[in-house]
Parts: sequence; structure tokens; C-alpha cells
Amino acid sequence: MLTKFEIQTNKNQEIIDITEKIKEIVEKSEIQEGICIIHTAHTTTGILINEISERNLCKDILEKLEDLIPESNYHHNQFDNNAHSHIKASLIGSSKPLIISKGEIILGTWQRISLAEFDGPRTRQIFVKIIKG
Ligand code: ZN
Repeated sequence: MLTKFEIQTNKNQEIIDITEKIKEIVEKSEIQEGICIIHTAHTTTGILINEISERNLCKDILEKLEDLIPESNYHHNQFDNNAHSHIKASLIGSSKPLIISKGEIILGTWQRISLAEFDGPRTRQIFVKIIKG
């Protein structure tokens, strides 16, 4: 089962909680045991799993990524001036696999699933593939 949904991001760089949407898709699938793969189909976004309900942690993550990968004179900027966005997205990764057990995604108490935007605001597409097994 493959589901696609869109999210409108609001800032240039932000972390948006998509946990409830993913849970809803898993519930609708009625699959009890399996794998759920979450994929963002862009080169400047990532799927990030962490304690993102803690908004100060989101700030810390975004600020630390900015420290590590500031806007600079990268080779790619001769093309479209957003190399820093691509590098951040590469570090976070565009897909995450999660386990479905007893009809629910296995997440730790503080784990939430998010879309990490690094070149917004834009409309972003997220794909969720659920495999029974
Ligand atoms: Zn680019």
C-alpha cells in the first residue's frame, strides 16, 4: 500500500511533526505486522525522528546544523544557491523505515516523526509505503 500526502511548509528551515498523519495512514491500512517506509521526495528535506515535541530541541537541531553547514560559497551555488540546504538534507536522510506491530508504529515514548525543511517555504510531498510481513 502506497499513500502520498502534501505539506505546506512555512519557513525556510523548520521541523514539522507528521506523526499523527503517519499513524492515521497506518491505522487505515489495517495492517497489524509490517514495515512502514516514510520518504520525502525532495533534495532539500529530510525525515527526522526525535523528541521534536520539545520545541527548544528543534531550535537546537536547526541551529547546530546551521553552525556545521552555514551558507557559504559552495560549488553548487553556481547553479542555484542552496548547497547548504542539500547538505543538511543529506545528513538527515530522505527516508526512514519503521516497524508496525499490533497495528501501530513502534516509537519510543518521546520519539516523533517529522519533516525537516531546509529550503522552504514550499509544498512538499511525503510518501508512505506499508509492507505487510
Ligand atoms: Zn540546489
